[in-house]
Amino acid sequence: MSDIRKLVRQELLAIKAFDAKRPGFDTGVLLDANELPWAHACYQDVALNRYIDEMFDAEILDPLAAFYDTQSSHILLTRGSCEGIDLLVRAFCRPYQDNIVVSPPTFTIFAQCAMMQGASVIHAPLARDQDYKLDPQLLLNSVTDSTKLVFICTPNNPTGNLVSLEDILFITKALAGKAMVVVDEAYMEFAQGKSAASLVATHSNLVVLRTFSKAFGLAGLRCGAVIAQPPLISILNAMMLPFPISLLTTRSLKQALSDANINKMKQQVVEIQQLRENVKKQLRQLPVVKKVWNSEGNFLFIQLKQSEAVLKACHEKPILVRHFAGVKGFEDCLRVTIGLGPQNDVFLQMLASFEQISEVC
Ligand code: PMP
Repeated sequence: MSDIRKLVRQELLAIKAFDAKRPGFDTGVLLDANELPWAHACYQDVALNRYIDEMFDAEILDPLAAFYDTQSSHILLTRGSCEGIDLLVRAFCRPYQDNIVVSPPTFTIFAQCAMMQGASVIHAPLARDQDYKLDPQLLLNSVTDSTKLVFICTPNNPTGNLVSLEDILFITKALAGKAMVVVDEAYMEFAQGKSAASLVATHSNLVVLRTFSKAFGLAGLRCGAVIAQPPLISILNAMMLPFPISLLTTRSLKQALSDANINKMKQQVVEIQQLRENVKKQLRQLPVVKKVWNSEGNFLFIQLKQSEAVLKACHEKPILVRHFAGVKGFEDCLRVTIGLGPQNDVFLQMLASFEQISEVC
């Protein structure tokens, strides 16, 4: 039995993927699926009145594989990478027995999915005095016999730092046959680093998550990808309910993956990187800002001196930022997304004017 089949919840091995094939779909008289015979008035150019004759339009897998530098058999399309996280937790964690390891501060959905599954969450925290750099040995020390998944977020949300491929490889090798390493690369397009996708073919316990919600600017499309070896892709595929990805989604994805649109995305990434460095520089000149960490994502993680008052000012304006007021140890931090120049300026001016007001007071 392969490592993956030993590690997953055993009852899942008996589940067969939903068979969406409809022999004769292209030429036959379609009276088998209780569909309406007319195309919808709003969508005359795409047959949304029909279920498709596969789980999703598999033609999208080749361009996806080319973009992620992997093989099409290594890809599962999901409704955002959140669905990939949820599927993985449900595939591996037995309720009230297994656990996942996360390195906070990090993306909270890892822990939320575990809690929904009845799995416990072990913390291997990132240290502020190490600039939140992941310590591979500390992470491995947190793993127990009941650990099924170790989540690594790179660039990490909210701290923005990358985990090196060497560290990912070290952790993956150390956990081979024991636990899965899930590398969430939601922000990788913005980073100078390299994706771990190239390591998946040679490491069965490695999974990479990607999304179209960030650099591709398609958050509303709800589309992400799980990259893993075929035995795991088959198991996750079998867990998905029929027809998870709509024809409109795959059509939009095909457009997004054209050479011209990939080039456009890359240009926008460069613009965001420049804006990010500029905002970071300006933030570092503001006395109300205690620290701004370097970031490889499209956001910055900031520690403030008078965080409560600043958050109140954001709220009143309103300027929407992600604050950590309820998160122990991070009450004085916020994460700001890099927007257009004028939007960033509103945020910077608010911080600057706040200082003038507080000085007068
Ligand atoms: N991973 C990380 C690190 C994220 O920050 C997010 C969204 N904020 C996601 C995954 C989920 O993205 P989506 O479900 O939109 O693909």
